[in-house]
Amino acid sequence: MLKEFEIIKKNFQKGSASIFLGIGDDAALFEKNKDSYWAISQDTLNIDTHFLSNTNPENLGWKSLAVNVSDILAMGGHPKYALLSLSMPSANELWVKKFSRGFFKCAKNYGVELIGGDTTHGSLSISICILGEVLKSNVLLRANAKVGDDIWVTGELGLAALGLKYKKRKFDVPKALINKAIISLEKPQPIKVDMQKLAKLSNSAIDLSDGLISDLEHILSQSKVGANIFLESLPTPVWIKEKKGFSLALSGGDDYQLLLTAPEGNRQKLIQFSTKNQIKLTRIGSITANKNMALMKANGQLLTFKEKGFEHFA
Ligand code: ADP
Ligand code: MG
Repeated sequence: MLKEFEIIKKNFQKGSASIFLGIGDDAALFEKNKDSYWAISQDTLNIDTHFLSNTNPENLGWKSLAVNVSDILAMGGHPKYALLSLSMPSANELWVKKFSRGFFKCAKNYGVELIGGDTTHGSLSISICILGEVLKSNVLLRANAKVGDDIWVTGELGLAALGLKYKKRKFDVPKALINKAIISLEKPQPIKVDMQKLAKLSNSAIDLSDGLISDLEHILSQSKVGANIFLESLPTPVWIKEKKGFSLALSGGDDYQLLLTAPEGNRQKLIQFSTKNQIKLTRIGSITANKNMALMKANGQLLTFKEKGFEHFA
């Protein structure tokens, strides 16, 4: 069976677009004015595929928008407007009220205005089209990682995947981590910073939705480079590392944090940026000229790893 990206490539990616950037990155880009582009992107959450039926509706409202905000940040931009397409099996007033409360909390947090959408009958599915603004000088393309760049990630990895496993009763999770894991899964927190400043220090970016390995691979293939990943540096809770190794951080998915590559010369500035903005920023590897991804332990051992990340048509 064809995989998600093969389907897109084979059937929908028809030559180059008439705008600055079409299919293939976290968002498409087209001219806004002489200094900036509009960034436009769409992400959908389907019941049973992207969320369990017992998901708190307020959290679902938050997450539907947050996963879209994350794609605009990954282009180096700021989100501005959203269109909300909501398909529901019934008109449950209380459910919609809670959903919209979560949606607007997220909208307020990231400065997004709802400007349209569609409301229809069907299986529960939320699809959002988001528009944002990116300064031309700040665009972070997947294709622009440079050999020698440091690889950075924001926040923590693997918690959302842990939350999902806990909810599906596949893991016993220590009490202290349960809430954090479920909140990471149901209410992801893309960073809230001045992207203009962060983008200036970086060369490329992608948001982590399918899992670190599979998302980083998009950067590597589009930039025609490779990467060394320092496994012990991955920002994942100690309990996860001890009990489950690196797999949740590498392929868990649903993190909605950013992976950035940036020149080594900007290391100190990025550390200062993270302190000043109170965000967690961790250096997890470097971009290499040989086109492989090497998962390296501190003792020099290489990890071979098969689970790449979430694939819709696996
Ligand atoms: P992301 O994970 O950043 O949301 P996706 O992996 O969903 O991005 O999609 C990869 C690229 O393919 C994006 O540029 C997206 O806009 C594009 N794309 C996905 N599905 C389709 C489709 N059915 N038709 C056209 N383009 C698509
Ligand atoms: Mg993305």
